[in-house]
Amino acid sequence: MDQVLELKNIHYTYHTLDGETPALTDISFSLNKGEFVAIVGPSGCGKSTLLSLIAGLINPEKGLIKINGKYLRESTTNIGYMLQHDELFEWRTIYHNVLLGLEIQHMLSAKTRARAHELLDIYGLKNFEKSHPSELSGGMRQRAALIRTLVLEPDILLLDEPFSALDYQTRLTVGDDIGQIIRQEGKSALLVTHDLSEAVSLADRVIILSGRPASIRQTIPLIFDLEQNTPLNRRNSPEFKNYFNLIWKELNCDE
Ligand code: ADP
Repeated sequence: MDQVLELKNIHYTYHTLDGETPALTDISFSLNKGEFVAIVGPSGCGKSTLLSLIAGLINPEKGLIKINGKYLRESTTNIGYMLQHDELFEWRTIYHNVLLGLEIQHMLSAKTRARAHELLDIYGLKNFEKSHPSELSGGMRQRAALIRTLVLEPDILLLDEPFSALDYQTRLTVGDDIGQIIRQEGKSALLVTHDLSEAVSLADRVIILSGRPASIRQTIPLIFDLEQNTPLNRRNSPEFKNYFNLIWKELNCDE
C-alpha cells in the first residue's frame, strides 16, 4: 500500500525559561493512502505536538518525517489542518470563508472557485453560500471549515479534536458526517481525539499513546464485519464495545 506519511524515531522536547518538557519519545508510524488513523492518549501527553511536527510548524529534535517519500522540508504535498474551533470569519460569507485558504495560497482561479461551489453543493451548503457563520449550526460551520480545507486538495488531513467544541449530541452526528465526507473524498487522515467512541467509529486503526512524554503503547487495527461500514453502523455493532473496552484498558493500564 502507498505510504503518504512516515514518522521514524521522533523525539521532541519543549525548551522554555522554566525548564524542559519532554513531549514525545521515539514515535514511529506510517499512514497509508486513503487510510484514517486515530491517535488517542491522556490529556497533555503530546498529541497536538505530534500534529504540529507533521504540519511542519515545529521541527523534531531527533528522527525523520517523510511525506509521499520526501523529507518534510522538501515535500510539496498539501497538508490540511482542522482544529477544535472552526475559525470561520464572521465578516465573510460562507463562500468567502471557503475561499480563504485559496486566497492565502494564491490559488484562486475559475477552476478552484468552481470546485468550492461544487463542494458546497455536494455537502449541503449551497443555500448558505451567502450566509454568515453565525447563521449556521455548529455542524454546518464545521462542514464549511472542512470544505475550506478540502478545496486546497490536501493529500493528508490533520484533525486536532475537531468536534470537541460541540455539544455531545451534535458531535456524534457531525463526527459521523465529517468522517463520511473524508472517506468519500478518499483522503488520508490523522485524527487526534480524547473521545474513544469517536476513534472507534471513524478510524481504520487506533494508535494509543502513553502519558507524557508520549510513546506508542499499542496500535489496534479496527475490523468490522459490516455490509455498510458507516460510523453509525459501527456504533451499533458488537465489535464496537470490544474495541472500546480494549482501548480503554490499554489507556488505563498504569492506573
Ligand atoms: P495533548 O495534545 O496530548 O493534550 P500537547 O501536545 O498539547 O498535548 O502538549 C504536550 C505537553 O507539552 C504538555 O505537557 C504541554 O504543557 C507541553 N507544551 C505544549 N506546548 C508547549 C509550549 N509551546 N511550550 C512548552 N510546553 C508546551
